[in-house]
Amino acid sequence: MTPTTHQAMARFRASLLRRASAVAWVVLIIIAAQAVRQQVFAQPDFWIPMAGLAAMLVVSTATRWDRPMATRYAPWIAVAWLTGLILGITAFALIDPLEATATPILYGIAAVSGLLLTWWAHAFMTVLIGMAISFIAFEAGADAIADLVAPVLTVAVVSAATALVGLEFEREAVRSASRENQIDQQRLDFERLYEVSATLARAESLAEIVPHLVGTICKYLDAQVGVVLLYNPERHRLEVMSPIWVNGYPLETDPIVLDVASPAIVAQVYRSGRPFFIRDIDQDTDAHVLLKELGLRQALVAPLKVENLRVGAIIVGDPYVGSFNEDQLDQLGSLAAPAGLVLSQIGRYEAQAEMTRRLEEVAQMKTDFVSTVSHELRTPLTSIIGSLDTVNRPELAPSQAAAQQLLSTARRQAGRLQRLIDDLLVVSRIDRGAIPVHLEPVPLKLAFEEVNRVVSIEPTFTIEPPDLTVEADRDHLTRILINLVENAAKYAVGSTVELYAWERPNKAVIAVVDHGPGIPDGERERVFERFTQIDQSDTRSKGGTGLGLSIVKSLAEVMYGAVRVEATEGGGATFVVELPLAPALQKAQSG
Ligand code: ADP
Repeated sequence: MTPTTHQAMARFRASLLRRASAVAWVVLIIIAAQAVRQQVFAQPDFWIPMAGLAAMLVVSTATRWDRPMATRYAPWIAVAWLTGLILGITAFALIDPLEATATPILYGIAAVSGLLLTWWAHAFMTVLIGMAISFIAFEAGADAIADLVAPVLTVAVVSAATALVGLEFEREAVRSASRENQIDQQRLDFERLYEVSATLARAESLAEIVPHLVGTICKYLDAQVGVVLLYNPERHRLEVMSPIWVNGYPLETDPIVLDVASPAIVAQVYRSGRPFFIRDIDQDTDAHVLLKELGLRQALVAPLKVENLRVGAIIVGDPYVGSFNEDQLDQLGSLAAPAGLVLSQIGRYEAQAEMTRRLEEVAQMKTDFVSTVSHELRTPLTSIIGSLDTVNRPELAPSQAAAQQLLSTARRQAGRLQRLIDDLLVVSRIDRGAIPVHLEPVPLKLAFEEVNRVVSIEPTFTIEPPDLTVEADRDHLTRILINLVENAAKYAVGSTVELYAWERPNKAVIAVVDHGPGIPDGERERVFERFTQIDQSDTRSKGGTGLGLSIVKSLAEVMYGAVRVEATEGGGATFVVELPLAPALQKAQSG
């Protein structure tokens, strides 16, 4: 009998005893009343059993029957209680005037005994009651057999009937207890499943979740050792996740691996996708490899899987034989289901995170490389340019036209290389987040004048209002404008280039306008990407690097601004730069 069924029977018997005590009090009162009426209450024959029974009922009423009825002495206690009652009632029945009242009560006791006792104790009680009734009849001078058969038969019939009713009661109690048991078990399973899922949901990495997971599962299945193995698809093997769970604590282990194709039970469980219970781990079988190494004598192994995708396996076990059962294997199977799902997700997430980390590392190496190479190239290049400029001076310049031609080509290409190196250095600084930014109020008029001094063409400029001032880094702003104006000069040959600036709420809008070929619709976003050149041949001939606009964009962004390109009306490109207004102006606007 399961513990709950046992408890249910104990509760039923205890409540029956309580009620029987109450009824016995009523019986006692009836007999006492009868004794008073018949004037027999003063005889010792009456008051000795009366005092004895009353004392017994006082004790019985004061007793909390649940506890004694749950012990293995319960039948003996009930037998003693009923025997006391039978002896008392028999004693009353032997007093002549009380016989007619007391004897039928013995039949009642036979009925209670059927409900209260196990069959052997009930049979004993029935015999005892039969004997008591026979004895009473003899004492009353009955005619041997004839007067005895009827009462003894009646007792037998009452006993048999109540025994059947008792049996039915017991069956019902067992049935409802087992239902209760089942519901309790299901509730427990759900609670455990919930807790395992909750543990899993909190996890961010495999290293963090695995010990929690096996710990929780070991606690529920009352196992000492818990191990998770994950499948490594690259090596086609199962790998034990460290730490493993031993006696309530996580324990770091050296790498342990198991070939997926091996005959080991754990590998079989992984392959078949079905849980397995190993009752007695055999030290001599290859199939029990790994389990032996973990020092286990019994183990439950379940696959970790999501639908058909197998993620790994989980082992829980004990270093001794005999405490697990099939139910626990089912439980492990149901707990392993959400675990498989989450472990696979986390595994995928970690693989992605690792990939991102490697990519970031590679990107960083590339930035560092570009930065180092650019720095190293700059010094010799400066010296080459210096030498070429010196040789190009009239007093040193070669007289042959061909030599002059070669020298000026060399100077042009060296200049181009210098621009590329400068751009690369800026780009690598931007990538490292190492670009210095000193924001200050910069009047656009000053910035435009500076651009005019540097660039090879003479753009017109219009600023409205003329004192329009932005919050920017002066060097970065000039670099942006020079870059845009020189691009206009390069790609819109022969066109005028106009600079405009006007005020908008909280920001200034600057436009660099040309009337050249413009930029096709689909390319307007792309031109701001690195190394993007729309027409390769054109750009090559114009000495571009494809980095200029990406630098313009990054610099605008570090100053909390933005840049975009539009088409100029009637053809051409208009680059629009937006920057925050200087704080004083913003205040004036909002005031
Ligand atoms: P580059 O160093 O090649 O000039 P940029 O990043 O400055 O690199 O420009 C990217 C591409 O955008 C150029 O190769 C060119 O094709 C196009 N482009 C830039 N400015 C203009 C313009 N004003 N008109 C037409 N095309 C332009």
